[in-house]
Amino acid sequence: MRVMRKESSPKKQTVYTEQMETFHRAADLIGMHPRVRLELEEPDFEHIFYVTLDVRDRLVPLHEDDEEAHRFKDLPASSMKAGDALEPIANGDFVLHRRALLNADITVREGVIRIANRGLFKMVKGEPRKFKAYRIQHNQVRGPYKGGVRFHKDVGLDLFKTLAAEMTWKTAIADIPFGGAKGGVRIDPQAYSREEMEHLTLRYMYKLKNLMGPFLDIPAPDVNTNGEIMAIMMRQFTDGQRTPHAFRGVVTGKDVRIGGSEGRLKATGQGVVYCIEEWARDKGFQLPGARVIVQGFGNVGSAAAELLAALGCRIVAVNDANATIHKDDGLDVAALVKYVHENPENLKKTVLGFPGATAIPKADFWNIDADIAIPAALGHEIDGNVAETVKVKLVVEGANGPTTPDGDRVLAMRKIDLIPDIIANAGGVTVSYYEWLQNQRMEHWTEQDVNARLERAIKSNYAIIRDISRDQPAKTVTHDSRRYCIGKTADMRTAAMILALKRIEAHYLLEGFSQ
Ligand code: NAD
Repeated sequence: MRVMRKESSPKKQTVYTEQMETFHRAADLIGMHPRVRLELEEPDFEHIFYVTLDVRDRLVPLHEDDEEAHRFKDLPASSMKAGDALEPIANGDFVLHRRALLNADITVREGVIRIANRGLFKMVKGEPRKFKAYRIQHNQVRGPYKGGVRFHKDVGLDLFKTLAAEMTWKTAIADIPFGGAKGGVRIDPQAYSREEMEHLTLRYMYKLKNLMGPFLDIPAPDVNTNGEIMAIMMRQFTDGQRTPHAFRGVVTGKDVRIGGSEGRLKATGQGVVYCIEEWARDKGFQLPGARVIVQGFGNVGSAAAELLAALGCRIVAVNDANATIHKDDGLDVAALVKYVHENPENLKKTVLGFPGATAIPKADFWNIDADIAIPAALGHEIDGNVAETVKVKLVVEGANGPTTPDGDRVLAMRKIDLIPDIIANAGGVTVSYYEWLQNQRMEHWTEQDVNARLERAIKSNYAIIRDISRDQPAKTVTHDSRRYCIGKTADMRTAAMILALKRIEAHYLLEGFSQ
């Protein structure tokens, strides 16, 4: 039965409707059952709520050349002995803990204080604040809701709906028994201290407690969250439980010492690299010496860069939220990882100021001559204009939704290959599943075991998508695409969606609907 979507009056285009274009295209191509389409078109649940936080007192820098600062020229420097009492925040402020006053020698005038070697600061009183929070549970027909938690100043319902739906497609493509979800808080984490972010995380999980669980909804790290945040969420969820260990699978991406999986930290970057290896094998392309540009040097970008460098690729440029750096014969990636991620002074975890490279304007980043581009930051970075300028053979989407539909069309026109996000960055969620399995079984697998399983999973699903795209059904020892090919060719993004939708639809068709 082939039922086409009804044309309705034109609606405002949003990130969500834009992303759903691929869904509808693939649903049309497979003749998706109309009720299944309705089930998948919108999320199961949209939880929108507020979390409040007591924001601490702050010291906010006063620049010496400000007019206001002029009046405090002769203010003597204060000294505080409780060294850790001033907690630096990434935006340049300090949180002023009360213990700062212990054994201190302080001069304050009109609320302004001079800290030796640091300059003038204005004391700003703390206050309670509220933040909008979200958890979108898109679909659970294949298993518990699964998806990351993002803390960012630009998030909203439309974005989280998009990312939650992406998780439904991604878990299906990875062939793991999970559904899709996403959530987070609209906040700029760079303006808050570690302790404030801990309190915010606890409050977020407190409000979601009834909606989460190892068999219900399982968060993981995303932009601006990490294993530390997952540990805090797990603590909140298991607080008061007599058997807390039974609930360790409520979050994934944990530190390996508290139930995390070996290999999880690098899993998304590793998955990106397995896709690139498969692409290179298929095209007869030699990876050693290949030139790569990477946008985003966080969890995904830095891991992908490190692993590619280990394969002999040259990472010639990196762009992040604060800077773009370039070195034509290849960056020293190990040194860059150290500079960004293992340097407590580098509060913004940025490549800005890395001594082993030249700083260039962001506008020049996408023009750099390279073989492979890995967008691994935020969405919508490769639009039609960027797609016109890139000088690469392959774009591999480490980030979620980095290419706009216009970008897609231009890349296709220019015959630049694309490995779409829902397979390229599925490594993270795949190892999250392995972590969850280890938690349920109380096991701890080696990194070799984890990576061997991940490699098999990513490469076999990648091969199925490639076969769908070329309409070449095949069965080999490592993959079987016969069930998924549709009798015509499709671009890689549509092919990936076809695989996801066929796997999801099977549940509805075989299990039926509860009425
Ligand atoms: P992260 O917070 O560790 O790093 C994000 C990086 O992007 C940082 O280097 C930051 O400086 C950079 N960035 C932010 N805004 C930017 C801008 N405007 N221009 C250029 N760079 C910018 O995040 P992450 O976990 O590495 O996630 C990156 C992307 O990968 C996101 O789209 C996320 O949804 C996706 N993803 C992550 C995982 C995972 O396991 N971490 C899994 C699947 C997908």
